[in-house]
Amino acid sequence: MKRLLVVSAHAADFVWRAGGAIAHVTAHGGEALVVALTYGERGESGELWKEAGQTLERVKAIRHQEASQAAAILGAEFLALDLGDYPLRMTEEAVERLRAILVDFAPQILMTHTPQDPFNPDHPVAYAITEKARQLAAGAGVASAFKTIPPPEFLLFEPHQPELSGFVPNLFLDITPVWEKKLKAMEVFASQAYLQRYYAERAEHRANHARRISGRKGIERAEAFQRVLPQVVDRL
Ligand SMILES: [Zn+2]
Repeated sequence: MKRLLVVSAHAADFVWRAGGAIAHVTAHGGEALVVALTYGERGESGELWKEAGQTLERVKAIRHQEASQAAAILGAEFLALDLGDYPLRMTEEAVERLRAILVDFAPQILMTHTPQDPFNPDHPVAYAITEKARQLAAGAGVASAFKTIPPPEFLLFEPHQPELSGFVPNLFLDITPVWEKKLKAMEVFASQAYLQRYYAERAEHRANHARRISGRKGIERAEAFQRVLPQVVDRL
């Protein structure tokens, strides 16, 4: 029974990049919570803004409905902090709200964006907020003057252009058994339909890599992650 916390800069990021991981955790009886720092109402909702008379509040409402529906398909809860996008700002309020969520939910696994992304100003800020909140929630792994949680595993999910974002995968997850759920969750985002094909192709490429690394022939779809912290094991 694992608890997974996914911090998504914008309302839809979690689906493309970690939808399989979320569905995997919940399919095995675990709990998943998705925290979207913003709705991506300005920077990642371009199709919605093509409608005449569109408003910020309406775009946010549509994105909330879409993200909640996608999270439900994956078996996760969805929580939006509505901190504003393009630009998302690294504020003490943002860090404190996420720290409180971390202490309350106490995840064993924490996921977010890479610290670099030359194509998006908000994704690295989401990393910075998450990293600081993680440190404040877990302390230094020892007793502190404040309530702490055991340090969660810290993973980065795959950015849109991995090489240009300094992403080097060192963990592949076989998402073949939950692929249909991820596909259904991606289909919810009518406003970003062009990404569905892209991430379906990416899942096949990563499965090819995972098969070659492991020799496991049954892997048809995979997601790639990068560990921030070393893995601690009892035996090799
Ligand atoms: Zn995004």
